[in-house]
Amino acid sequence: MIKPPLTILLAAPRGFCAGVVRAIDIVERALALYGAPVFVRHEIVHNKFVVDSLKAKGAIFVKELDEVTDTTRPVVFSAHGVPKSVPAMAAARHMFQLDATCPLVTKVHMEAQRHHAEGFEIILIGHQGHPEVIGTMGQLPDGAVRLIETVEDARRISVLNPEKLAYITQTTLSVDDTRDVISELQRRFPSIRGPYKEDICYATTNRQEAVKSIAPRVQLLLVVGAPNSSNSQRLVEVGARHGTPRSLLVQRASDLDWSTLEGLSVIGITAGASAPESLVNEMIDAFRDHYDVAVETVSLREENVAFKLPRELRETSTAP
Ligand code: SF4
Repeated sequence: MIKPPLTILLAAPRGFCAGVVRAIDIVERALALYGAPVFVRHEIVHNKFVVDSLKAKGAIFVKELDEVTDTTRPVVFSAHGVPKSVPAMAAARHMFQLDATCPLVTKVHMEAQRHHAEGFEIILIGHQGHPEVIGTMGQLPDGAVRLIETVEDARRISVLNPEKLAYITQTTLSVDDTRDVISELQRRFPSIRGPYKEDICYATTNRQEAVKSIAPRVQLLLVVGAPNSSNSQRLVEVGARHGTPRSLLVQRASDLDWSTLEGLSVIGITAGASAPESLVNEMIDAFRDHYDVAVETVSLREENVAFKLPRELRETSTAP
């Protein structure tokens, strides 16, 4: 059978960011040093494939610490960060805790604490219910951080003192949408204090920029990622806004509906920050079964960010 030609534009950078690599390393290193099981509070990163492979190695995922049945075992907190109450509870139960919070999320936590210590009211731009937002709001007493999501929210919010006001953001938002929300806040509250350096992280920004560069050239953009992954969802939106007629989130190649994928000549593929490269390769291989595929990598910039592991895991083994 002669297969029709298909060009796949592969966006770069894509996939794993430094925070995700570090979080997975923390669980794997804890398993290697201390043996199974290692408890992990929440999905370590938002990807079922990653979670399932860690489960197979001996990680046990729990929603809350009270589900941890053996407190002599290590417990890891996810890359999204946790409210202060979580390490406090772990300490009260004498648990051996390992914090996989991404250092770029910790940076936002520290900004929030600094603003609060200086008597500023804080507006957090983010998505309600996302674990990172819950973790960031939980750094300070209830009511100290006010959450907004949209320009409309920024237009409506009333504040105590416009001269003592600061904003912070979730790390995985749409760069463009967030710029609009910040502009509205700055219009209404010209003295509002912002981060010294963007809160939206380098990985989120780079992946969105890479999608913008291929979106106008492709008939379909596939974002490999999970439905609960904020940065993956944003990539789908960025693709749709920058010229791709169809922009879809896909978890695995087996989720593709081939009846809707006929007659294509150029598609784009990217992956969210928590999606492993093996799933991208699986997707390309699936297209090879149907098309005569040529892959062209469109590279926007190189990334060379890496974060250190927690000290306990860098040193040689000691029993927890
Ligand atoms: Fe850290 Fe950004 Fe990755 Fe989130 S997406 S884990 S903030 S590097």
